[in-house]
Amino acid sequence: MILQGKHYRSGLPIQISCSEGIIDSISETQTSLEKDLIIGPGFTDIQINGYGGIDYNEIQSDPIKLAEISRLLYQEGVTTHFPTLITNDPAQISRLILQIVYLRKSDELSRMSIEGLHIEGPFISPIDGPRGAHPKEFVSAPDWSLVQKWQLESKGLIKMITLSPEWENANSFIEKCVEHGILVSIGHTNATHQQILDAVSAGARLSTHLGNGMHPIIARHPNYLWSQLAQDELGASIIADGFHLPAEVIEVFQKVKKDKLILVSDSVSLAGMAAGDYDLHIGGEVSLTPEGKLHLKSNPSILAGSASNIRRGVSFMIKNKLSSLSEAWEMASVRPQKLLNPGHILFEEGAIADLILCQMDENGELKVVKTIKHGQEVFSA
Ligand SMILES: [Zn+2]
Repeated sequence: MILQGKHYRSGLPIQISCSEGIIDSISETQTSLEKDLIIGPGFTDIQINGYGGIDYNEIQSDPIKLAEISRLLYQEGVTTHFPTLITNDPAQISRLILQIVYLRKSDELSRMSIEGLHIEGPFISPIDGPRGAHPKEFVSAPDWSLVQKWQLESKGLIKMITLSPEWENANSFIEKCVEHGILVSIGHTNATHQQILDAVSAGARLSTHLGNGMHPIIARHPNYLWSQLAQDELGASIIADGFHLPAEVIEVFQKVKKDKLILVSDSVSLAGMAAGDYDLHIGGEVSLTPEGKLHLKSNPSILAGSASNIRRGVSFMIKNKLSSLSEAWEMASVRPQKLLNPGHILFEEGAIADLILCQMDENGELKVVKTIKHGQEVFSA
């Protein structure tokens, strides 16, 4: 397979050849390109609850229904994603894990696209505000034996855990996770400055959707936002959908976190659906606007989760001049991969051919034209 386009970083025309799912060569080309196509690595979303009306957090009558998520995400350039299971009854989390294990066993594209699981909770803050929409009844102190059980059930697929270090046993738990190759991210937290420092010393390396999952009003200082911003060892993920964070907040996070800032969608099942009113069995009556804002039907100022995707996040960053095209692209591909797959190479000779070809429309929106997963064309506009 030969692909041509402008390199997403340099802007120079390049030609990529791949065989057997691997990039054989990337070389500059003199051939004038027929269209203004930009080529780069596929996007990686490390936080996704559901998409296209399907939810990883629900037991499906037929687990194969979940296979649709990978296909829908290819349309948005997402070649790798980490299904995210939120706070729930531990036995239910086990059932949801087994459902994904079954899905990966039965569907090749899901197996390739799902590189790991992100467990968000139940070891988060029980406090209203930081806890967000996670059900309080299942919030608990970190429990390593529980994670070992889940890890066994998932066949080693758990790659990331979001927790709050405010629990007394958090540090020994974080050390265990790190020892076993699980990325620990701080989120939904009400931790003190010292607890955050200790978590970083224990090996926590990321803040989950920084600026969300917080109290609506916090003390000017000290507070857990400053504490996480001040730690250079902590990267941060953000939901850049235009609704979860004002642009100026992202601007500050960019300046502080630099090349450790990454994009996530944190999408719920209604992402990728048509605008309209929906009745969710968790969340009740919600409205999805044509702009992609998902809010309680009764109160448009209360968000009911994210209905975005990574491609939209990249476009938001570019349109609002928060970053260049190449930087936004890296926030959605190279950077999350580096965090969760250290040592894994991307967009180089010898790398797995997970590639996307995009075009920028007149409104500055990045549109996906073609998606290649492991050297196989999985989407063409
Ligand atoms: Zn969350």
